[in-house]
Amino acid sequence: MDIRYKSTRGNKETITSSQAILKGLAPDGGLYVPNKIPCLDEDLNELATKNYKEIAFIVLRKFLSDFTDEELKKCIEHAYDSKFDDEKIAPVKEVGDSFYLELFHGKTIAFKDMALSILPYLLTCAAKKNDITNEIIILTATSGDTGKAALAGFADVKGTKIVVFYPKGGVSKIQELQMVTQKGDNTKVVASIGNFDDCQTGVKSMFNDEELKSRLDKNNYQFSSANSINIGRLVPQIAYYVWSYLQLVSKGKIKAGEKINFCVPTGNFGNILAGYYAKLMGLPVNKLICASNDNKVLYDFFQSGTYDKNREFILTTSPSMDILISSNLERLIYTIQNEDEEKTKELMSELQTKGSYQIDKESNILKNFEAGFSTQEETATTIKEVYEKYNYVIDPHTAVASCVYEKYKKATNDNTPCVIVSTASPYKFARSVVHAIDKNVNHCVCATSKDKEYLGDFELIEELYKLSNVKIPQAIEDVLHADIRHNNTCELKDMEKEVTNFLGID
Ligand SMILES: *Cc1c(COP(=O)(O)O)cnc(C)c1O
Repeated sequence: MDIRYKSTRGNKETITSSQAILKGLAPDGGLYVPNKIPCLDEDLNELATKNYKEIAFIVLRKFLSDFTDEELKKCIEHAYDSKFDDEKIAPVKEVGDSFYLELFHGKTIAFKDMALSILPYLLTCAAKKNDITNEIIILTATSGDTGKAALAGFADVKGTKIVVFYPKGGVSKIQELQMVTQKGDNTKVVASIGNFDDCQTGVKSMFNDEELKSRLDKNNYQFSSANSINIGRLVPQIAYYVWSYLQLVSKGKIKAGEKINFCVPTGNFGNILAGYYAKLMGLPVNKLICASNDNKVLYDFFQSGTYDKNREFILTTSPSMDILISSNLERLIYTIQNEDEEKTKELMSELQTKGSYQIDKESNILKNFEAGFSTQEETATTIKEVYEKYNYVIDPHTAVASCVYEKYKKATNDNTPCVIVSTASPYKFARSVVHAIDKNVNHCVCATSKDKEYLGDFELIEELYKLSNVKIPQAIEDVLHADIRHNNTCELKDMEKEVTNFLGID
């Protein structure tokens, strides 16, 4: 089946998967969606014997129709190799009566690695296929984890440069350190004075700026996006939903064909949307449970049918979910509107002008989802409880999902086996995790000097090691000893200047 891609706001014109990966965002501001969803028609028992790479290959080749098998195999080989510190790539751990799908064994110890370790290969391969000679400029806004994972993926990849903006003060110390110590001459990291949504809006407006685009083109550059709107990120994420299901089959926890739930800590709606696509392919999924932190705009949306970003932006202990504009939700909205581009465009423009829109709450599509939220206090309590009950340490993002799942189970008595999608290593958020487990630990060594604060983080990591007895990941060892290479801060209005300056075209 030949799958092509069209924009959620477009004129039904379709392009190939490699073109959609190159473009990232559609020229009309919409997101690319597949014109059909391919079927997972293989025998699940047989699939259950395969390894992660083999599953990724089966999923990718269904969606990325214009890539050859050979090309895809090469991309997959480069992506899911010894960079991952677990041979399973994404191991599934049984903890109590749930299963934790650990997506944090890649280079930056968060789930973004699952897609961003393969995107650079898909992208450079796509450029070759389409005779692109321009250098590709990756422009990314990050709430913390995407930035580092994209930097790590693209550093020193020929024919690319990457610029990452993060909200100043809006990411964890370890996240910031991971980014500002990034090596590679083709990388640039900038702290913007604003929140994540401001950064994302700034990046989106650069993508839509025709004048800027033509200036880039004259200098043999073109933009592409590593943000979660790129189908080159969405499609690799579908693989681990299929994979984790099959892991439960192969461990004898479920029978092939039996339905399971997934509970997903959600920000931009990219991760959970991949789960929805897996379900549409035919993976036996009952409910996709969307877990939010205090920024519960998605929870309210699933309750009321109204998406309303007009509210206070709350900085939480799960910063990668501190998001009020969930970009990938547009793809679900498009499906709910029966793939009506005009209607989708209208709703998205309402979001831009009024900050809110409303859809038909009775839509059957919404029945695939459940939603919940976890306050910061509940999140901390969950970390402590899971640790005390099972001697398993989870990060605050995963804890949001864990808490929401427990609430869901209590409210519904739904005992369908559930995979909790585990999105970051606790080491990435050592401060919040240690503090949650043991309030007596002197977690605030943070004096005024930066050095002291970093030292504090180092001590916390030691403390976490003592508590969890899980090996300190290489990514953490690296960051604590690396030099700071990026020291740029800018006002939101100067984001474009930072980019043109880096490219030498201002
Ligand atoms: C990005 C991220 C999320 C949210 O994922 P979305 O695809 O934006 O919904 C959750 N947890 C962690 C650790 C992340 O990095």
